[in-house]
Amino acid sequence: MNGKTLLTWIELSEKALTRNIASLSRLAGGRRIAVSVKSNAYGHGLAPMVGMFLNQPQVSYLTVHSLEEARLCRQYGWDRRIMVLGPIPLDSLEGVFELDLEPVVFTKEALRRLGVLSNKARTKVRTHLKLETGTHRQGIPEKALKSFASIYKRYRYLGKPYGAGMHFANIEDTTSHEYAQKQLNRFGQAVKQMTALGIKPTIRHTACSAALILFEKTRFELVRPGISVYGHWPSKETYLSYRLEGGRNDIFEPVLAWKTRVTQIKEVPADSFVGYGCTYRTTARSRLAVLPVGYADGYSRALSNLAYVLVNGRRAPVRGRVCMNLMMVDITDIPGVKLEDPVTLIGGEGSDRLSAEQMADLAGSINYEILARLSPTLERAVVPS
Ligand SMILES: *Cc1c(COP(=O)(O)O)cnc(C)c1O
Repeated sequence: MNGKTLLTWIELSEKALTRNIASLSRLAGGRRIAVSVKSNAYGHGLAPMVGMFLNQPQVSYLTVHSLEEARLCRQYGWDRRIMVLGPIPLDSLEGVFELDLEPVVFTKEALRRLGVLSNKARTKVRTHLKLETGTHRQGIPEKALKSFASIYKRYRYLGKPYGAGMHFANIEDTTSHEYAQKQLNRFGQAVKQMTALGIKPTIRHTACSAALILFEKTRFELVRPGISVYGHWPSKETYLSYRLEGGRNDIFEPVLAWKTRVTQIKEVPADSFVGYGCTYRTTARSRLAVLPVGYADGYSRALSNLAYVLVNGRRAPVRGRVCMNLMMVDITDIPGVKLEDPVTLIGGEGSDRLSAEQMADLAGSINYEILARLSPTLERAVVPS
């Protein structure tokens, strides 16, 4: 980013993305890859990320949560497959045909409506059944499969389900895979049941990032990673398990960096309070930098008086509460800071690096939430390196 017209922006590294996709392709061993771009591509920005995924021939699908997200992917030029993981209002299911989408189905009502619409349009539709295996979120219990089978038989253009999928409940939060194995067994059982009912799926998919990285048996014909594509480990447990099995520590590199600029510098005397609520008080004469970023931008208020930013490659601690659009950091011991100097909120500068993971630890959250909550209105810029 040259020039100083922007005060806060996100940089997206195409080089990091290419490396992450290469690592995931190796893990996937030639299987097709469906990349999750829900929640504005994990906060990275849907438009620039779709543009970058178009340059990655290994990515055959994007997975989205909603019909609206799918529509945006098409607007941004995505012409490969799209799977919709979340619910679609029954009265909006025409969108599946209009946008050429593959819906994940978990209610009979949606399947019936898709049957009516596909027969009317004389158009086939690739449906995926989401099977309940123990997460108790979206999913069809095994005993309900029979009625789904009869709906498939009733509507000619509905054909058979193209895919069968499930989602793990407890694969990134533990180093033990007992529960995951149980879910996998139930999945196998349910697929067998589908086959017996005459609705054998063409492909099976179960693997989020942690499953893909750690658990070979989950990979089947298609894998569905999200967070790792953006260069983040799903959890410390996943990272540790992978390393314990002899895996390398450099297979992922964060795609995103978050930057801002110093918009005011001030000297304050000892014993001065800083910010709302007077939660910080200087103990000595201090230099503060005001930054034009706050919780509305996605910088969590939970980071008040806890986190730090990088200025000239040095750590400047956050002083006082993070406001809606502003925050203050202490630059007393960082010489030479000038107005509009760049500041790193997430990312590397000099020899230091601030990660979404550190921020999550400080805020009592997880990297997924820190990223997904980055404001969609922040400027995004793709950088080659
Ligand atoms: C979000 C999501 C994924 C991707 O999960 P990651 O942990 O980000 O890799 C995969 N499958 C489903 C159903 C999801 O909702």
